[in-house]
Order: sequence, then structure tokens, then C-alpha cells
Amino acid sequence: MAQQEEKTDNVPAIPFLNLKAAYMELKKELDEAYERVMTSGWYVLGAEVAAFEAEFADYCGVGHCVGVGNGLEALTLVLRAWGIGAGDEVIVPSNTYIATWLAVSHTGAVPVPVEPCGSTYNIDPSRIEAAITHRTKAIVPVHLYGQPADMDAILCIADKYGLKVLEDAAQAHGSTYRGKRAGGLGHAAGFSFYPGKNLGAFGDGGAVTTDDRELADKIRLLRNYGSSVKYVNNATGFNSRLDEMQAAFLRVRLKRLDAWNGKRQLLAAWYLRNLPISLPQVALPAVPDWAGHCWHLFVIRTADRDILQRELAANNIGTLIHYPIPPHLQQAYAPLGHGSSSFPIAEKMAGEVLSLPMWPQLSLGALAGSILGRTNPFNVNYKGRS
Ligand SMILES: *Cc1c(COP(=O)(O)O)cnc(C)c1O
Repeated sequence: MAQQEEKTDNVPAIPFLNLKAAYMELKKELDEAYERVMTSGWYVLGAEVAAFEAEFADYCGVGHCVGVGNGLEALTLVLRAWGIGAGDEVIVPSNTYIATWLAVSHTGAVPVPVEPCGSTYNIDPSRIEAAITHRTKAIVPVHLYGQPADMDAILCIADKYGLKVLEDAAQAHGSTYRGKRAGGLGHAAGFSFYPGKNLGAFGDGGAVTTDDRELADKIRLLRNYGSSVKYVNNATGFNSRLDEMQAAFLRVRLKRLDAWNGKRQLLAAWYLRNLPISLPQVALPAVPDWAGHCWHLFVIRTADRDILQRELAANNIGTLIHYPIPPHLQQAYAPLGHGSSSFPIAEKMAGEVLSLPMWPQLSLGALAGSILGRTNPFNVNYKGRS
């Protein structure tokens, strides 16, 4: 270990993520946006939110966008607006960030997990029908890590059973499925603008996108105390609003989204080309030809994940695990009674996945100069998929 640290003393560290770099690149425009909002004297539900909603709806190719407080609430509000609640079931992936499940639980409905494909990590459409009961009301596919779920197959099943499809697009800003952007692939979509997402705010934020005007109107009511006219309340709503400052920042970031996704694409291409040399036996992400991946995360798999993570850390390369414990094994979901081994694919993934540095300002030169640019530097054959 000490030897490795000495060896790499003069190699700059590669953090997993560097959000300050995004600010520094856009400092002038972001500072202007800040000034504009501060001097406007209007901070909630104003011109910036309206403009961002129009711009993001246009970007996603849908008729409507409604800015809300965060990604979890975007998903929750759509399910509530559809009337989903106690006694209902909603199909979710067994491997996802827990927010997908929480959105279902917060309506009073029960999340019903379905396992992913072993290669794409997204919900396996061929397993969905077996999970449908007379209580099932909707399917929430997640475009995990930025790779779109197989939407045609999912929509086909939804059609057959009369179910709604809500995209969890929290990791999929700019992803495409057969050439069409995420956010416009199902009946509605929920986005998160948490700072680390491909389109990130400098605080919390979220949005619902849809072509359904009636749904968009309902979300507008629900996000604002159930009110469209001040002090007149038509529904028992929430306070979940995107604020003016975040909307102004997001308008600056949205103009860079495609260019920054392009940089992520270059980094992903570098990893796909070089990792077979530096980490010969690690499993790489598989991208079907119909998928336009936005590379929110670059996730590899190895049975020796914990050792590899330590080795990379010793060489100043930051990594994270998305996600170490699947939702069904979290204490929060103990009441559902899914024991260990009930979703073996999700559980295996949790033990093997590792996310490598992926952010638009990270340079290819830094990657090439790091230990990941060498030939089998650890001289270990990490086990891939078993
Ligand atoms: C980030 C994320 C969410 C939640 O978004 P927040 O804005 O943090 O509430 C939901 N689903 C997935 C898949 C996410 O990655």
C-alpha cells in the first residue's frame, strides 16, 4: 500500500465528482442569473420557473413541464394525481435508488419489485407480467445510470393491462430511446435536479414532464397547496415548488446539457476502450443499439469490488457504489417481508457494482495518466460476471 502511494505521489487525484468545476465553468452566467433573481424581488413561482418549464418541455419533446421541489416529489405527485393510493400496487425495479420505491409508498400503495436484465441493469420486461395482479395500477421503469429502459416492451404490457407508465428519469436527462428523449417515453416522467445529476441545480429541484394537459394541471395544483388562485384550495395539496433561483440556474445548465453529455460520452468511450487493458476481467456496461445512454454513471461489475475500490482509492481515484443495499433489504422495507435472496439479481448487483469518476470537466488526459491508463496495473484478474 505504502509503495503504491509513493509511486503515484505526483499523479493528480481524480475525485468521483467535482461539482465546483461545473460552477467555475459557468460562473459568469450563473452569477448573472443570481443577480437577476435577487434584484427581481420575486422568489417563488415566477418568470424563471415558467421559462425553465417551457424550455425543458421543449427539450424533452413534450407538451408540459411542471417544476417541483425534488425528484422524489415529482414521482409521488404524478402517482397521487393518477389517484393511486392505499390498496393499489405499483411495479418498480428491484435495483434502483430507494426514492423510486418511496414515491409509491408515500401514496399509500405498495411497491412490487421486478428483477432487472443481467446485462442492462434495467427492469426486465419479460418478468413484469408475472408481477401484475388485479391491484396493479402502474409501472415505474427507471432509466438506471442514464440508460433508457426497454420502453416499447413495457408500454406494450401496460396497454394490455390498462396500466399507467411513469418514467423515473432522475438519471436520464438527455437519454434517448430509439431516438426519442427520456421524459416523453411514457405517460409521464419524474426528473430530479439534485446537484450531481446530468442537469443539476445548486440545491434541490425536480420536474414532471408529460403530454397530458389534465395531468399537468393537477400537478400544478398539488405542488402549490391544491391552489391555483391564491387562498382558494381545490385539493389537499403539498408545498413542492421549484424555486426561482434554481430555475434560473437550471436555464443556464440546460443550454450546456447536450455538450456536457457529449463530454460524458467521450469519457465513457475511453473507459470502454481502456478498461479491458487496465482491468481485464471487469464487466463493462452493455448498451443496446436502441439506447442513447447519457452516462450519468459509469458502472462496472466485479466480484472483487471491495478490493478494487480500495486499490483505486489508494491511487487517488474516487469511486462510489450505486447502490450497496437494494431497497427490499433496507430496514425501511422490512415490513414488506422480502427476505434475503428474494431478488437475487438485485442483491448480486449490490455486491458487485462500482461507479467510476464521470463528470464533464474531467479530462481524458487525467484518466490516461492515472492507473486506469496502464496495463493490468494491479496484476490481479478481477473476476467479472460469474
Ligand atoms: C436522484 C434520484 C431520485 C430522487 O431525486 P431527488 O431529487 O433526490 O429527490 C429518484 N430516482 C432516482 C433513480 C434517482 O437517481
